[in-house]
Amino acid sequence: MKALVKTAKGRDFIELKEAPRPNINAKEVLIAVKFAGVCTTDIHIQHDRFPYWPPVIMGHEFSGEIVEIGEEVKDWKIGERVVGEPHTLACGECFLCRTGNIQICEHKRSPGWGIDGAFAEFLRMPKHLLHKIPENVTFEEAALAEPTAVVVYEVLERSRVEPGDFVVIIGPGPLGLLSTILCKASGASRVAVIGTGSAEEIRFSIARQVGADHIINTSQEDPIDVIARLSGGRGADLVVETSGSPSGINCSVETVRKLGRIASIGFAAQDQVPLPWNKAMYKNCQITFTMSSSYSSWGRALALIDGRIDLKPVITDILSIEEWEEAFERVAARKRGKVLFRF
Ligand SMILES: [Zn+2]
Ligand SMILES: [Zn+2]
Repeated sequence: MKALVKTAKGRDFIELKEAPRPNINAKEVLIAVKFAGVCTTDIHIQHDRFPYWPPVIMGHEFSGEIVEIGEEVKDWKIGERVVGEPHTLACGECFLCRTGNIQICEHKRSPGWGIDGAFAEFLRMPKHLLHKIPENVTFEEAALAEPTAVVVYEVLERSRVEPGDFVVIIGPGPLGLLSTILCKASGASRVAVIGTGSAEEIRFSIARQVGADHIINTSQEDPIDVIARLSGGRGADLVVETSGSPSGINCSVETVRKLGRIASIGFAAQDQVPLPWNKAMYKNCQITFTMSSSYSSWGRALALIDGRIDLKPVITDILSIEEWEEAFERVAARKRGKVLFRF
């Protein structure tokens, strides 16, 4: 089968190669991948800024169809349409696993960086991590289940969007657009999306289309002044920081209201980023961080995708795996919505 492999440590070393079709064990299924999403994490792996164990097939966001099942798999059938949590090799025994947090188990190694992933024609997955794609949901939309679950976990479950909230979303990339959709669906009264001038062409129009009430272009306006004005000086109830940039992180503390919440889902390009510590102190704000998804967030994400939210506007590019260099360049340029590979 064709597979996109990170062959060695260091910048780049990515090759489209012929790889053997994976063998499954008794508790696994083999999935024919239909669509797989390219994530900024893949770009961080390409640039050697994120942990990975080469040689490894890349890709952790996917949708597909079961084509083979292990002997002990009773609840799944060949032909079923599935997505899967990328929490493979979590030990099931440590404190985190026993408290239901397999997504941050020390032993976890996700498909796409820890073990072979979804940028290939076939992918093996343990049965307990599978979720069924609802009947009316397309494979394209289902490929966004993983980033949607990340946003559900951090923004809905942990930072709790409350009815009537004024929400500020920093960064209009796929996670920012999904946050916009999910905050509106959860009763936020107003959502303001902040981005740079490069978002003008595509990302801001998607943000408007999916319900953003205010668009703030930082090349034209100071977002801190605009949010102060829009909130009557009070600040936002909830700020979703998806950019991971020093200016975005600063802006999250500057724009949140006293006792407000900041949900951080943007991986920073550098390990140390300045934070206006005392301002956060004065504001008594809550800051939470995540880059993964809980078990419950997958059920919620799929229930929402099943007719309650529309993810189609977020998908801007569908390419073949042969065009991976172009796909990676488009994601790295941070101007598009979700970029998918079709298999
Ligand atoms: Zn991702
Ligand atoms: Zn564990």
